[in-house]
Amino acid sequence: MSPVERFPVARPSITELEERYVVDAIRSGWISSHGPYLRDFEERFAHRCAAGTAVSTGNGTVALHLVLAAAGIGPGDEVIVPALTYVATANAVAYCGARAVCVDVLPQSWCIDPAAVRAAIGPRTRAVIAVDLYGHPADYPALRDLCHRHGLLLVADAAESFGATLDGHPTGSLADVTTFSFFGNKVITSGEGGCVTTSDSALADRMRLLRNQGMDPHRRYYFPELGYNYRMTNLCAALLCAQLDRADEIIARRDRVIAGYEEQLADEPALTRQPVLPGVRRGPWMAAFLVGGEGDVAYRDALARALDRQGVESRPFFVPIPELPAHHDPAADCPVTTDLSRRGINLPTHAELGEAEVKTVVERVRAALAGIGC
Ligand SMILES: *Cc1c(COP(=O)(O)O)cnc(C)c1O
Repeated sequence: MSPVERFPVARPSITELEERYVVDAIRSGWISSHGPYLRDFEERFAHRCAAGTAVSTGNGTVALHLVLAAAGIGPGDEVIVPALTYVATANAVAYCGARAVCVDVLPQSWCIDPAAVRAAIGPRTRAVIAVDLYGHPADYPALRDLCHRHGLLLVADAAESFGATLDGHPTGSLADVTTFSFFGNKVITSGEGGCVTTSDSALADRMRLLRNQGMDPHRRYYFPELGYNYRMTNLCAALLCAQLDRADEIIARRDRVIAGYEEQLADEPALTRQPVLPGVRRGPWMAAFLVGGEGDVAYRDALARALDRQGVESRPFFVPIPELPAHHDPAADCPVTTDLSRRGINLPTHAELGEAEVKTVVERVRAALAGIGC
């Protein structure tokens, strides 16, 4: 018997174009944190995101920390975050010595609930980080209104939503400041990499200073304050310039994969697709479904095991932040997050999955569901 073809949950889309730009960067000698690809990438990325400027970073986690550090957030401060997100969102707050206050997400978007944010605002609140979970932008009009009324910084963690728009406006332009990740499983990638976009030039200047160890831009090797080495390399920027050249193609292919699953699995009563609100064009990060009905906790993991036996890798949704030891908060009341976290599953999503492969995955999903009696 031939071995069953395996489907990884994620895979980068790398072509000869990426190879050519990276080889060019290597041969130029600009392999560190200066070089023409870095300038080019920052300029083009800001333009694509309709933002004033872009500040590239080593990864998406330090992009978040850089924002909070530049905004002066520190011990005693609170930052409101959704309970359902990747750990980096809350970790960046903890790196500042501040407290991440977790609030629930909405069942209609899986993103932070503006009403829950309003209820969590207190005298120590300094900022809100909204997360565009699985590519779906949060409710920025409501959050902007709320944050501006209370004098809070609105940060968008758009690590998962490159390519998304809300009422025609791209992520990167929807909040005061937005962070991106270019980790290997993201929509566009440089292996490790990140970026911040903003139209606040004072905040951007401060981020550029802190990104470069806090060095005085007018006096070499004088460091007026504690900074970080959060720079991106020209090699990563070369990769990203090629990914930007191909971004529309990559997005279209990933869109087709997700649409393929959603159309072909629409008649599966055990699966519910990711909801998409009016006015939203989702970033095609990862196909996301809920398994079983509200409160069903047994089926998701059984489905994942059955899929794995059939050669289809999947991922469970994130564990709620308040359940993680570093951010443990037994008082957090986030029932929607708890339910989504237990029932959510991601299916293989990458640009190289063709129609036939999507069909094969769908057949295996159906077989796996039948096998577990769901
Ligand atoms: C991927 C991701 C990040 C950043 O991750 P890095 O691996 O540090 O680039 C941050 N937030 C969310 C929601 C993510 O999915």
